[in-house]
Amino acid sequence: MPLSHIEFTAGQTVFREGDPPDVAYLVEAGEVEILSIRDGQQVSLAVLKEGDLLGEMAVIDDAPRTATAIARSHCVLLPIDRATVGERLDQTDPIIRALLEGQIERYRTGLAAMQGRAGVARAGASARRLPTGGGDSIDKIRLESQLREALATGDLELRFQPLIEIASQRIAGYEALVRWNHPIRGAVSPAEFIALAEETSLINPVGELVLNRAIDALVRLADAGVEPLPFIAINVSPKQLMESDLLNRTVDRTRAAGVPVNRIKLEITESRMVDYPTVQALLVRCHREGIEVSLDDFGTGFSNLGHLHALEFDTVKVDQAFARHMMTSKRAMALAQSIIHLIHSLDADCVVEGVETEAQLEVLRGLGVRYAQGYLVGRPQPLGDVLAGWTS
Ligand code: C2E
Ligand code: CA
Ligand code: CA
Repeated sequence: MPLSHIEFTAGQTVFREGDPPDVAYLVEAGEVEILSIRDGQQVSLAVLKEGDLLGEMAVIDDAPRTATAIARSHCVLLPIDRATVGERLDQTDPIIRALLEGQIERYRTGLAAMQGRAGVARAGASARRLPTGGGDSIDKIRLESQLREALATGDLELRFQPLIEIASQRIAGYEALVRWNHPIRGAVSPAEFIALAEETSLINPVGELVLNRAIDALVRLADAGVEPLPFIAINVSPKQLMESDLLNRTVDRTRAAGVPVNRIKLEITESRMVDYPTVQALLVRCHREGIEVSLDDFGTGFSNLGHLHALEFDTVKVDQAFARHMMTSKRAMALAQSIIHLIHSLDADCVVEGVETEAQLEVLRGLGVRYAQGYLVGRPQPLGDVLAGWTS
């Protein structure tokens, strides 16, 4: 365990070139000079003062020190041990980690060349690769740029999965689910690329595309004379919610397309609902415009009931895990019943997702559930098939 502070007197060595990297330091007081050998001469690379870090590079990439640090005056340093740095690095975005590694590598090579040791910058180092850095990160960067390209070339498309009203057996609406037809990998699941898009601002153009295509689909259904016009529910990520303009765009574009605004529904996933005040503000504004909002995947996140009373969702979608287990587990059935009861007592409509068998549907009918969604009702299908279903 490193001491909380270490004091050095003027002229004392903090570490030497070639020393193993045990700790990094934060300068709390005084000055430390960083020195290196160039053409056989000692040269000063930097003078570090209060608030500066030193020795951090060797700790990050586990290579021997490439310079010497000498106290220029009496100074106080706070040691930061390798485990602490490693823990923080492990929690860092792998792309940032890979960039950091690349930069350090480049710096060391430059320094080695300057010292006349070209190509031996990491000699003797155990060369720890940054945890889960390299490969994964590069894959991510590659996938991200391909996704950007897919947005431009139209390789993203929507599938529409029907929701039926159980009592009337009629299709009440569809959920829009995005698909990526990757030229090499084939159909890439949204579970894979939505998370990636959410890590960057790419989710915004993806969301735009989904909104535009959903509105187009409503126009096509209306043109085909489908009456009453089904709703289309679109999934909205937290990043899109933070963008205050989302609702205005939805309203403006729906109106411009000549379809009723209330035929678009928004779905917000419980586990990703980060910011309650934002969600609450959105709910109020949506309701003012007549747009309904569903709480998605209920029961999978923290099911934070403390907030549920304040968030007036119109619909709550019970995650498919409940439908999957309720026929084989008494406890799962008891939970499903309680959740459905809870949703009804909040005056919200209930959708049960993942309904795959007639037996499940019968149970839900008995429990008074309004909507069912799942492979029994219909798989996600292209718009052409949806339209054909209404006109045949
Ligand atoms: P989700 O919103 O919970 O969507 C339902 C997922 O369950 C869909 O997977 C759907 O194909 C699948 N599913 C539907 N019925 C059944 C069934 O009976 N059995 C089984 N085993 N699965 C069923 P998909 O299309 O792969 O989407 C995965 C997730 O990706 C979605 O989960 C949603 O969170 C996200 N997602 C999809 N499209 C979008 C989008 O346009 N925007 C955003 N932000 N997220 C999206
Ligand atoms: Ca959904
Ligand atoms: Ca869901």
